[in-house]
Amino acid sequence: MFRKDKTGSVVYQGSLPKGTDLLNGLTLLLEKENITCGIISGIGAVTQARIAFFNHERKKYEELFVREGMEIISLKGNISQKDGFIFPHVHAVLSGRDFKAIGGHLLGDTLVYAFEFEIIPFQGEPFIRQFDDDTGLYLWME
Ligand code: ZN
Repeated sequence: MFRKDKTGSVVYQGSLPKGTDLLNGLTLLLEKENITCGIISGIGAVTQARIAFFNHERKKYEELFVREGMEIISLKGNISQKDGFIFPHVHAVLSGRDFKAIGGHLLGDTLVYAFEFEIIPFQGEPFIRQFDDDTGLYLWME
């Protein structure tokens, strides 16, 4: 499935303060600006990170909590709605002192050291996430 969008001139660019819960900080901004669909990208650094891998066999997220400073090499996400709320779905690639990358589905408790983002809102109705039995994920449904 897909959507077409005539991207408007509004693009948000900004940063989140040190110590902010990254996912919560993004969600609050989206709620404040009523951005219900669009894309998110960002770079920066975190003081700790919690990311997840979705195990297809178990249909459950397996979490990794990294308690050290890491670079955000690339953060990418989309914006839609889930359970009546604005829902940013965000993935991140992080690297540590050994310069090796890890990545996954971004969760709360990932704390900003420095974070710079761009958000491009789309016009029109947002996609709605609903539970999909086949995958065990909340996906965009027609
Ligand atoms: Zn994900």
